[in-house]
Amino acid sequence: MNNIAEQLGAAYQNIAENCQQQGRDLSSISLIAVSKTKPIAAIEAAYQAGQRQFGENYPQELVSKATELASLAELNWHFIGPLQSNKSKLVAEHANWVHSIDRLKIAERLASQRPAALAPLNILLQVNISDETSKAGINPTQMLQLADAVSALPQLTLKGLMAIPAPGDSERAFAAMQQLSKNLQQHYPAATELSMGMSDDWPLALKYGATMLRLGTAIFGARTYERNE
Ligand SMILES: *Cc1c(COP(=O)(O)O)cnc(C)c1O
Repeated sequence: MNNIAEQLGAAYQNIAENCQQQGRDLSSISLIAVSKTKPIAAIEAAYQAGQRQFGENYPQELVSKATELASLAELNWHFIGPLQSNKSKLVAEHANWVHSIDRLKIAERLASQRPAALAPLNILLQVNISDETSKAGINPTQMLQLADAVSALPQLTLKGLMAIPAPGDSERAFAAMQQLSKNLQQHYPAATELSMGMSDDWPLALKYGATMLRLGTAIFGARTYERNE
């Protein structure tokens, strides 16, 4: 697991260099280490190297990892995968962030299921920015309506937007997301987060204003399998 610390260090250095080149403030950027399908030991290795933000795609996997690692202080879980109604309670009880809200119904469930003893759940609205029929996410024209509804719910805090562009559409999509984020911030000045960019396209995302980079492969190596729940 030694190379996890090395790859993490290299990623942070790369991000710092990119920020400098692009005149971005490094302190406004967070790296989410996407640990889906990876073992507990990999997460512990990254944590020991100083990493605190982790991303997971599957509710059940999030719960088992969060439960096992509950003693690690300041560890934050970002739920970044598709969320079905019957799994919302698991996420409401274990995540700190949800990046994939594209339906009011799920937001309402999270709001009612979020334990009162926990801080409000941080919410990003997922935008289907490449307009793919197969992909999750709202149409950009629905953004303000969903933002209004979500921000009125208790136990949730609207923080910004998330997107996963189609292959080949990254630059146009990132630019469009930057514009959408500006529109959102005119109505919700605190909703400044923009979650976009993965292992193979994050420098471009950074150029167009990304504040949260979701890196899996670059930190933990290739995934040997994908799960479906
Ligand atoms: C798996 C996943 C990532 C990480 O992808 P890599 O290419 O391994 O960096 C980021 N975001 C989402 C939504 C994912 O599902």
